[in-house]
Amino acid sequence: MTTPMTDDQDTTDAERKMQFMYTLRSKGVRDVRTLTAMEKVDRGQFITGHFADRAYEDMPLPIACGQTISQPSVVGLMTQALNVSPRDKVLEVGTGSGYQAAVLSHLARRVYTIDRHARLTRPVRKLFETYDYTNITVLTGDGSFGLPEQAPFDRILVTAAAEDPPGPLLAQLREGGIMVVPVGQSDAVQSLIKVTRTPEGFDYEELLPVRFVPLIEGMGQE
Ligand code: SAM
Repeated sequence: MTTPMTDDQDTTDAERKMQFMYTLRSKGVRDVRTLTAMEKVDRGQFITGHFADRAYEDMPLPIACGQTISQPSVVGLMTQALNVSPRDKVLEVGTGSGYQAAVLSHLARRVYTIDRHARLTRPVRKLFETYDYTNITVLTGDGSFGLPEQAPFDRILVTAAAEDPPGPLLAQLREGGIMVVPVGQSDAVQSLIKVTRTPEGFDYEELLPVRFVPLIEGMGQE
């Protein structure tokens, strides 16, 4: 049974959403398509347990398997840098809570998201079924090797830090495609890098300092 919302609750939800969107804009998320996509996705649906009431704060929060759901403004800045168009096939490495994939699904034709922890991908798959996210495929595996059977991708987003942009992911990016990836040591501040595949090779642009959990080769523990 669902509990009817009171006027007070309505106001609180609306205010909370307004504050959330205001914070995104004030942290540099200006792209209208990104903001519209983020307005449609309720971050509260992707966080369970006692951190659920902090879902609308601009901070990373713990999820299962010692992982994190990224900070909303960083999700916004990464999504904006990826410049996804409605025809794009996108690969996300690092499903985590599923929040970033849900945002991407409002911008892309098709989203593939992969995580090394089945304990994360199983509930995310269910969540996407429940909320009718029909253009997302959730896979379990080592995403540092990409997804050769679906390559090439128009866009690739890596949400865990690699020491360098992984070679297999660069190889699976189509010409003209964009990859956004945090690069650096896991215990230090990393750089968010935008890689564009050109006819001659790859262009690299440093976007901003970030802190992500590491990209780890191999499958996670059940
Ligand atoms: N995008 C997520 C979200 O919206 O909640 C946040 C991702 S979290 C910061 C990083 C994720 O990368 C973790 O869930 C972790 O298990 C995953 N990861 C780390 N190494 C990986 C690998 N080699 N292949 C796939 N996933 C990996």
